[in-house]
Amino acid sequence: MKRSYINEIKPSSKQVLVRGWVQRIKLLGKLAFIVLRDSTGILQCVAKQNIKELSNITQESVVEITGVVKKSKIAKKGHELEIKNLKLLSKSQAPLPIDVEKSHTFIDKRLDYRFLDLRRPEIQAIFRIQGEVANSFREFFYKKGFTEMQPPSIISSSSEGGTELFPAQYFEKKAFLAQSPQLYKQMLTSSLERVFMMTPVWRAEKHNTPRHLNEVRQMDIEMAFADQFTVMKEMEEVVKYIVKKVLEKCKKELEILNIKLKIPKAVYLSYGEAIKKVNGKLGEDFTPEQEKKLCDMYKDSIIFTHSWPVALKPFYIMPKDENIKSRLSEGFDALYNGMEISSGGQRVHIPDLLVEMLKLKKLNPKNFTDYINSFKYGSPSHAGWSIGLERFTQTLLKLNNIRECTFFPRDRNRLTP
Ligand code: ATP
Ligand code: MN
Repeated sequence: MKRSYINEIKPSSKQVLVRGWVQRIKLLGKLAFIVLRDSTGILQCVAKQNIKELSNITQESVVEITGVVKKSKIAKKGHELEIKNLKLLSKSQAPLPIDVEKSHTFIDKRLDYRFLDLRRPEIQAIFRIQGEVANSFREFFYKKGFTEMQPPSIISSSSEGGTELFPAQYFEKKAFLAQSPQLYKQMLTSSLERVFMMTPVWRAEKHNTPRHLNEVRQMDIEMAFADQFTVMKEMEEVVKYIVKKVLEKCKKELEILNIKLKIPKAVYLSYGEAIKKVNGKLGEDFTPEQEKKLCDMYKDSIIFTHSWPVALKPFYIMPKDENIKSRLSEGFDALYNGMEISSGGQRVHIPDLLVEMLKLKKLNPKNFTDYINSFKYGSPSHAGWSIGLERFTQTLLKLNNIRECTFFPRDRNRLTP
């Protein structure tokens, strides 16, 4: 008999064969009740005759059950499975190292046993939603005619001038894990024009916060003949598209997590306006509290703060009016549900200006020769941004820790599993 997934079973189904994990078992004299779980759902099963193997079953053991679907008044779904035959396929050791029915366990211990933590439907729901986020991001930009890019993950030097890189040995040369696809995606704007990518990046910063990891996946775009407003609009549209798709395709998961989503509105504020609204100091970055405050002022919105001061943005962000003395730049941030989800802006595509900017930022242009040269043979103006996949999932689902939406997080202390 062919295996049925639990979500395929209907009250009208007759004989079925199911496989899954024993979430709960209760023996009541001659009767036995099993709550069976597979990756698609939960099914109440009942044994009315003596089945030898039942006494041997532990919580989370893997079983195969054949039985007959019957209407039931007590079962949540209105039907249950009457067990005719049961095979124990893999017996679970008892006791389990973590509670897999409720989240009584601290996150650290849960992550130590992530394979077991993922048995919980709530945890599975988070990752199904994250999958839909990634899929709809791709779908949106494919539909628009962007080309998907695969940037390298091993690089020869810092792409952004920062020092927070993980070193790697590349044969006889020193190399690093990429902290962003920034420079590579920029190079493609002079050929493919519009590119997007989903790619892992590594940041060696020693932060230990609920919103930072040392390995994340980024959703990036880069577009030729674009300024900061062109690409903010793309982000507004793709975020709306993603939330719409999650609402359409992840109804069950949102229900499991008890989350009500709304398609966000977009708010555009200049950096100057925004920093005033939260009583921040002109010329300084927003503190996490100020980011939250701004988000509280505009509920269910994606907030773009644009035209940041040159001093607060990286060297590759275009100064306004191509004037390096200009205080303001073409760089922006995007905030959603309490924190930053993205940074972006128009880039410097003029080689001489790039050299000036590097010097301004106290970086050595000699270390960026290949990069600067790539703009010497016909380079259009261009702009782009980067959204962290985990950070976005965290804010979308209002999770208190980014580790909740990372299968196997890499942070200051964790390298396993
Ligand atoms: P933050 O200010 O939140 O530390 P950032 O400004 O250092 O982030 P960017 O270089 O702007 O980060 O990276 C673009 C996006 O990638 C961020 O907006 C965020 O969504 C995500 N991101 C960056 N660094 C991390 C990290 N360490 N952990 C999780 N997500 C990150
Ligand atoms: Mn940023």
